[in-house]
Amino acid sequence: MKTLIKNAVLLDMVGNAPNVRKTDLLIDENRISKIEENIEDEEAQIIDAKEYVVMPGLVNTHTHLAMSIFRGYKDDQKLMDWLENAIFPVEDKLRPDDIYWNSFLSCIELIKTGTTTFNDMYFRMDKTIEAVEESGLRGVIAWSITDTSIRDKIERTREYHKKYNNEDSKIKIYVSAHAPYSCNPDTIKLCVDLAKELNTGLHIHLSETLQEEKIIRERYNKTGTEYLNDLHAFDVPVVLAHGIYISDSDLEILKNIKGGISHNPISNCKLSSGICDVVKLRKNGINIGLGTDGIGSTTTLDMFEEMKTAAYLQKINTMEPTSINAYEILKMATIEGARVLGLDNDIGTIEVGKKADLIFINTDKTHLYPENDLCTNLVYSANGADVDTVMIDGKLIMRNRKLININEKQVKKNIAKVVKRLL
Ligand SMILES: [Zn+2]
Repeated sequence: MKTLIKNAVLLDMVGNAPNVRKTDLLIDENRISKIEENIEDEEAQIIDAKEYVVMPGLVNTHTHLAMSIFRGYKDDQKLMDWLENAIFPVEDKLRPDDIYWNSFLSCIELIKTGTTTFNDMYFRMDKTIEAVEESGLRGVIAWSITDTSIRDKIERTREYHKKYNNEDSKIKIYVSAHAPYSCNPDTIKLCVDLAKELNTGLHIHLSETLQEEKIIRERYNKTGTEYLNDLHAFDVPVVLAHGIYISDSDLEILKNIKGGISHNPISNCKLSSGICDVVKLRKNGINIGLGTDGIGSTTTLDMFEEMKTAAYLQKINTMEPTSINAYEILKMATIEGARVLGLDNDIGTIEVGKKADLIFINTDKTHLYPENDLCTNLVYSANGADVDTVMIDGKLIMRNRKLININEKQVKKNIAKVVKRLL
């Protein structure tokens, strides 16, 4: 099937400076086959994008999709208190079907706010995968491993990897060790060995709070980064969620990693975790993607909110407004995030040969007018509700803000039942 997008204002996210131009795009099956003016193709279905900015779908590099029911639940607490007193007791009671519906709600929110690819870790990933497949999203998914029932989770990861890691699949399976403080050295080693065996990556929380760094220091007399490095975790591609407390010697280690760090600015603010020094890390050649983290620690999955907050945090952290600009923030939310997930050959920019993961933004809004600079408007003034149309892998998933083939009402109805039973 072919789709011809006419008259788009294209922001392709290729290169180090914005390239905005009016053009047509031809999509052949799931890939972009032509980008030029005045394309004609009689077989193609035509979408007129005259009113819209077309840019790459956003990449959310750290999520826990099944946590959607925790929106606003026992908020405003310290991370460890919140996890131990509010979240873990409810998570113990989650049924497989709950994980499915909770994940589905997050999938809908991601699509409606312009995210086309995410990177998730949680338990019962089989149920998350079901929801993701039905929603049409692209995702990297991992079964979160801690020190309990390790063998079973490793077997499940192997099984799902075999099923999904192929050329055509939009789902890619990673291995996930939850965090250095929740995984002893043997668990980390097993996870790293599994990632090596499967030739895939490792998704892990790292240095989110001072408290966890203190725990690692007391247990092993190391930083979190040193702990992982000594266990050869960086032999495989990694997604390190948070990366706030990174010393200069840690930085030397992290300079050489494949993958990168997922910066989760709103979660870090809400939980008073600290500020990730994105400017310094990027200067040292480390890929930084943006992520939301799970609902509860972040409140929404809207990556536009994350972009804005990421920019503000760096400006206040460095006390220097020129430390990062809007285009660099957009890169973190697109191509740099794709690089963190090892998907940059396929997504993250709009180029001939890449997969057609596109979002159409309606800029005919009061809060986006006038448009003196498209990139600054997108980062500082836009929000997820400005996303009008979403295409993933060449298929329309949302058109004019209407979801295609997704029954949002049914999902909400089922979420209401989960909330009533558990919260
Ligand atoms: Zn997290």
